[in-house]
Amino acid sequence: MSNKSALADRYETADGSRPDARALDEASARKHPLVAFTVLAGGDAFEGGSAPKDGPARAAALVQARVRVERHRAPKELAARVLERMTRQLAGNPALVARLEHAPPLEVDVVPEGGSFVALGFPAAVLEGAAGLFWGDKRWPAARIALRREHIDTTPMLVEHEVAHAVFALALTGAEQELAYAHLRPVFGARAAMDEAFAIYSERELCGSWEELEHHAPGVYGFTRRQWSDNHVFTRFVRKLWFPFKPLAGPRPAVEGHRRWNKFSGAR
Ligand SMILES: [Zn+2]
Repeated sequence: MSNKSALADRYETADGSRPDARALDEASARKHPLVAFTVLAGGDAFEGGSAPKDGPARAAALVQARVRVERHRAPKELAARVLERMTRQLAGNPALVARLEHAPPLEVDVVPEGGSFVALGFPAAVLEGAAGLFWGDKRWPAARIALRREHIDTTPMLVEHEVAHAVFALALTGAEQELAYAHLRPVFGARAAMDEAFAIYSERELCGSWEELEHHAPGVYGFTRRQWSDNHVFTRFVRKLWFPFKPLAGPRPAVEGHRRWNKFSGAR
């Protein structure tokens, strides 16, 4: 995610290069299927109901076991807030949590003010002006997120944006990523832009509406936020990915007294 002082930056890297993390293996994916993909396949997603009762506990256990924060002398409370936000983000879909148990662990660097991503071992192509970034490399034992300390509490949705990148890269199989890309490619073209589109649709789903300022962000960031609609198939997909129990996005008027239809159509 670009910060406000780097308005010319289009992506999180100078050359549009992307992380090469290890995608989820097919066997783990089959054990924990994601209903969201039926939306992209042109179908309806019938799952409904209520939030999983054990969602927060399972997400907390995963975060405790698989996420390590390198504080670089930032206050403990700040690191705790990052982990809390990650836990909340994953609490809606136990299948995602289960998938991440089979993915590489995640290391989160809280980058000191004025610090360098590259000095912490991130590739030379990453933009030092970014507020945060996700990176993975098949040769690394863990995938990595970096968050600039001064942006964690002040740049809205920063943590959620980077965790969305991580989930897309680590909790989906290569084939599932290709299904999402096939849907996004006609509009967004480049992979780096499609990755950002996924993270931005996720911001909206996880955190609610954007501030006016964020609509004016450069490149794919502002464009995607301005074009976002409740009626997009991709909005429905992203909603079912984070919150499978929620009704599909888009207006679906309820029919009085017709419980089965309302359940089918996702109307409340
Ligand atoms: Zn991003």
